[in-house]
Amino acid sequence: MNSALQHDLDHIENILEKAKQQGIDFLNNLENIPTSNKESIDTIRELNQLGLGALGTLEEFKERLAPLMVASPGPRYLGFVTGGSTPASIVGDWLASVYDQNAQSIKSQGGNSALIEFETINLLLQLLELPTSFSGGFVTGATMSNFTCLGVARQWFGAQLGKDFAKNGISETINILTATPHSSSIKTLSMLGIGSNNYTTIKTIEGNREAIDIADLEKNIQNLNGKPFILISSAGTVNTADFDDFKAISRLRKKYNFWWHIDAAFGGFAAVSEKFKHLVEGWEGADSITIDCHKWLNVPYESAFYLVKKEHLNLQIESFQNSNAPYLGNPLENFNYLNVVPENSRRLRALPVWFSLLAYGREGFQDIVENSTLLALHFGNALIEDDNFEILAPIHLNNVCFTLKGDHNQEKVSEFLTTLNDRGKVFMTPTVYQNRKGIRASFVNWRTTENDVKIVIEELKETILDLEI
Ligand SMILES: *Cc1c(COP(=O)(O)O)cnc(C)c1O
Repeated sequence: MNSALQHDLDHIENILEKAKQQGIDFLNNLENIPTSNKESIDTIRELNQLGLGALGTLEEFKERLAPLMVASPGPRYLGFVTGGSTPASIVGDWLASVYDQNAQSIKSQGGNSALIEFETINLLLQLLELPTSFSGGFVTGATMSNFTCLGVARQWFGAQLGKDFAKNGISETINILTATPHSSSIKTLSMLGIGSNNYTTIKTIEGNREAIDIADLEKNIQNLNGKPFILISSAGTVNTADFDDFKAISRLRKKYNFWWHIDAAFGGFAAVSEKFKHLVEGWEGADSITIDCHKWLNVPYESAFYLVKKEHLNLQIESFQNSNAPYLGNPLENFNYLNVVPENSRRLRALPVWFSLLAYGREGFQDIVENSTLLALHFGNALIEDDNFEILAPIHLNNVCFTLKGDHNQEKVSEFLTTLNDRGKVFMTPTVYQNRKGIRASFVNWRTTENDVKIVIEELKETILDLEI
C-alpha cells in the first residue's frame, strides 16, 4: 500500500476527529460567516507527486478553500430555494460515505441497501399522506426527478400510439401542455429529445396568479381532438409558490387521456401542514410527482426523489432499463434501481432522509414548514409597511417576490440586490415577474428565526441608504 494511504489507514480515528472539529467550527459559526464571498482561487494548484495525507490536506483546505465557503446552510440565505442540513441529515450523509454502498438492488449486489431506500420512500409517502400506489427512488435533484418522470411519460405517450420510443426513437410529435413550468422541466424536454420549444403554454388564472387556468387548459385539450398529451403541472412555482388546482385536474382526468406530472419540488411539503395541505388536495391522482429533499426537508444537496404510479413500472423499465447487461436478469423480477432511473451506480442517498425523518418525525417537519411560512408573511408585511418596497405577488406559502417601489426604480433593482448581497448578511436571488424586475426571498431553512427577519429588514434599509434610493 502507498505510504500516504497506509498512514491514513493507521490514523483514521484522529483524521475523522479533526474533520468533525472542522465541521463543528463551521456550523457553530454559521451566523457570522458571510452569505456571499468575493474571495476566489487565484492560482490553480499543481498536483503533488507525494500525497499530503488526509490531515495535511485538511490543513490546506482550511487555509485555501474553507475561506471561500459561504453560509448557504445558514438562516439568512434566502436565495434560490435552499434548505440547510439538519444535524440528523448530516449524520446520515456522513455515514452514507462511510458505508459506501452501491444502492441498486435487493440482494444480488451483495447488499440490501435498496430496501433502505424502499423504507425511506415509504416514510416519505406517510409524511406527505400519499398512497402506496406510488413507487419511488432517489436522484440528485428535482431536475433529474423531472427527467425520470417525464422520461416515463414520453414512453407512455408512445405506447398510446403503439410505438416504443425508448427502443426506436421519437417518431411522433409529443403533445405537452403546461402553464408555468420550472426551467428544469424545459431543460428536461430538451434532454429527452422532445425539444425545449415543443410545448403549449396554457394561460394562468386572471389576476396576479401563476396557476393554470382550467378553462383554457380544457380548451387546449379539446383542440387536440382526442390525441393523448402530457400535462406538466406545478405544486409551488418558484416566484410566488402558486399551485395548480389538482381537484379540477383530477376531474379532467376522468374525461381525457393524459399523463399527469406534478413538479412539487418544494411545494409538496405543504402536505405536512394542516394549514396548507389543501393546496395539494387531489395530487394523489397524478401519474408522477417530483420532490426535492435538499429544499424543505433540509438535507444536504443532491437529494430528490421521483414518484411514479406502480401501474407504470413496465413503462419505467422500458425507458431506463440497462438492457445490455443480461446478468441482471428479468428487470421486473429482480428489482434494481439501475433499471428505473438514469443513474447506474448510486450512493445510498436515502440515508440522510431516513435519519431526518426518524429524528424529527412528522411534527418536526410540520414545524419547519409552518415556521417558514409564518416568517415569509412577517417579512412580506414589513415590506408592505416600508415605503421603499412593493410586493409583486401575493404570498401563498414561503416565497416572497418583491421589488423597489415605482417603475422609475426598475433600473436600480440589480444594483440594489448586488449591494445587498455583497454586504454578506443576507442572500436573495433576482427574478422577473410579469415583466418587472424583482427580488425573491425563499424561506425554507430550519434555522431561520424572527430575529433573522429583523436583521434582513435592517439590511434592506441600510442598502437603500447606501445607494441613496
Ligand atoms: C428547485 C426546483 C427545481 C430544480 O431542482 P434541482 O434540485 O435544482 O434540480 C425544479 N422545480 C422546482 C419547482 C424547483 O423549485
